[in-house]
Amino acid sequence: MGAGVAIDVAAAVATDGVASSVTKSVNVVSKSKGLVSTSKNTGKAISKPNITKPYKRPSNATTSSMRKYVNEVGKKTGCAKCGNTSDKYIAGYKKALVEEYYETGTIDKTNMRSNSAIQPECSTCSNQEGAAMSRYSKQKKKEHGFN
Ligand SMILES: [Zn+2]
Repeated sequence: MGAGVAIDVAAAVATDGVASSVTKSVNVVSKSKGLVSTSKNTGKAISKPNITKPYKRPSNATTSSMRKYVNEVGKKTGCAKCGNTSDKYIAGYKKALVEEYYETGTIDKTNMRSNSAIQPECSTCSNQEGAAMSRYSKQKKKEHGFN
């Protein structure tokens, strides 16, 4: 896989004049600014998923062992977003489930229950994130015509 391949693909698309999802790049707004990028390349197609239902947070998304895990990590690292220390940390998804849902059309349940998908967040950051994702969710519902 190299530059040559990418150029060939782009040239082919341009020549054919075929519109495309091939050239369209998806701009994912990182929800954790300033942190080391942990974007996981799942190799999933970039094409738009067919979303027929509004997002609904899965029940018991995080397990008690995951909540225990973030408290252990948090004690050493502090909040993953602001760096502050706290008595109690909340398990925050590095990639919000609602974003994953609207971007891919599904939620990877195995990943959802994995410690590598979460990070410790203090209550302030977690609340901010929750509010931002609530706005995002509403906006997406509107875009898809869900009520
Ligand atoms: Zn914080």
